[in-house]
Amino acid sequence: MLEENQVPISARLAEELAVTPPAVTAAVKRMARDGNIKVERGGRILLTSKGRKTAQNLMLRHQLAEMLLTEVIGLPWAKAHAEAERMEHAISPEVETLLIKRFGDRKTCPHGVPVNGGVAKLRKNGGVLLSQLQPKDRAEILCVYEKDEGFLEFLQGLHLLPGAKLEILRREYDETMTVRVAGRTTHLGKPATSRIWVRPLSTAASAKRFGTLANSAKSV
Ligand SMILES: [Zn+2]
Repeated sequence: MLEENQVPISARLAEELAVTPPAVTAAVKRMARDGNIKVERGGRILLTSKGRKTAQNLMLRHQLAEMLLTEVIGLPWAKAHAEAERMEHAISPEVETLLIKRFGDRKTCPHGVPVNGGVAKLRKNGGVLLSQLQPKDRAEILCVYEKDEGFLEFLQGLHLLPGAKLEILRREYDETMTVRVAGRTTHLGKPATSRIWVRPLSTAASAKRFGTLANSAKSV
């Protein structure tokens, strides 16, 4: 949540993790006791440097598990995130070392989330949300929101996968977009376009526009 610029408070964690608020309270207490997090007076949860290290290692194991599941044993792309959520806790340091040996050259997870840095790194590297594009813009998909299996299946059905190139044909008043991807025309609403990160492939005019957008996104 920190990487995605969301403010982590107990209520939101409960929502995000689909568990009860008391379960979050108990876990937060335990993590604070172990020195992984600090809870500010307003309820905002911060990672300590120890906690940040733990979180980064867990993220890495999560991404390695996704690579193993999709590339080696053929689990569907849409299911890899949820499955890796369970698997990441069971990976020993020894297995982690072997997985790094096998997948160490990968720059992103199968859904396009950068290894080491997550979504924050996308923004730093000039990634913008598809919802920020205008008609005639062209872009390459960098990353998609990976925590919703239904969304991932929807994207797969439309060939909206990391690496795919698309062009914006129309943008309606309600921000619905008509895009051309893989030789097909598709309509996408804001719930979808605000969960897809792209790299504008661009003309001078849009490069200028996205230069500004990328900078303003960075400072948020
Ligand atoms: Zn992923």
